[in-house]
Amino acid sequence: APKTVLITGCSSGIGLALAVKMARDKQKRFKVIATMRNLAKRGSLEVAAGAALHKTLEIRQLDVCDERSIRSCITGIPNRHVDILINNAGVGMIGPIECQTIEEMKGVMETNFFGVVRMIKEVLPDMKKRRSGHIVVISSVMGLQGIMFNDIYTASKFAVEGFCESLVIQALKFNVFVSLIEPGPVVTEFEMKVYEDAENSDYSMADPETADMFTNLYLKNSKAIFSSLGQTPNEIAEVKELVGVICAAKPPFRHQTNAVYTPMTALKHADPTGALMTDTFYKMVFKYDTLMHVSLKAIKLIRWQARKMKQGVKMLGFK
Ligand code: NAD
Repeated sequence: APKTVLITGCSSGIGLALAVKMARDKQKRFKVIATMRNLAKRGSLEVAAGAALHKTLEIRQLDVCDERSIRSCITGIPNRHVDILINNAGVGMIGPIECQTIEEMKGVMETNFFGVVRMIKEVLPDMKKRRSGHIVVISSVMGLQGIMFNDIYTASKFAVEGFCESLVIQALKFNVFVSLIEPGPVVTEFEMKVYEDAENSDYSMADPETADMFTNLYLKNSKAIFSSLGQTPNEIAEVKELVGVICAAKPPFRHQTNAVYTPMTALKHADPTGALMTDTFYKMVFKYDTLMHVSLKAIKLIRWQARKMKQGVKMLGFK
């Protein structure tokens, strides 16, 4: 029988691509419950799903910040039976913390962290009883490595990573798998929303040096990185990527989708004092920032990081 897959945040981006890819699986391995907070935004998903709609793909309302909406969606599924839960819904936030209110910050944690916790709390007891299930979380490379001006977003993804790292061992005892997917930049509405907000915001709450660092250094470099190293939602949802992880007999706990970022996330493990990581990032941002405007050079920089990492590993005597 096909596996029931519930995905959150399917009105756009990775969630939409994944829902469609799984619903149109040639081997018909999945029955997809594609959920979204606002059903008025179902149009793009309906078009992309095509003939799969109402066959292998159903659209349901679910707001990860609203327990009642989660419960009513799960209870509406026959026997509450979800084989694979994909926590995809998320929001971004960039900028100097001086310009962000605590309420706005809490909003990011509510969706990105507590949203995942609420979903898992609702489905895990059933998975444990059945002694089978797979919980997938779309985290980020920023769940492994902080990036300047992404303080709160990174914190929310670190929270998710810590939560899953604790849960995975208990879950395995019940034959329930947990997988964290860690994409680098993905070109979606997410990125556009974040930039749009950033461009329309007022940075006068920050000192001029910080405001300039954000608008001139960070925003420009970050856009260059997205256009040179960014993946598409379809690439993420490809069989060998996400669907591959989901269908593995023994799914991996972590999966990075963009190999270019692996050395970056390994820096801190190579040097437990953190110096290798902070020095590398400091130099990358403040000493070589002009190079970052050119995408090819950005790639060179990341290769340079990889060499630094190898040095670090050698320095510590690891093989
Ligand atoms: P996106 O903005 O296209 O998709 C996010 C979806 O989550 C949207 O459809 C949005 O409506 C939905 N959502 C937000 N709040 C919700 C709520 N309370 N309840 C239900 N749905 C809600 O962006 P995306 O890039 O496809 O993001 C998907 C996931 O991938 C996110 O968790 C994001 O953190 C992660 N991610 C994105 C990138 C990137 O560069 N775009 C990189 C790494 C990880």
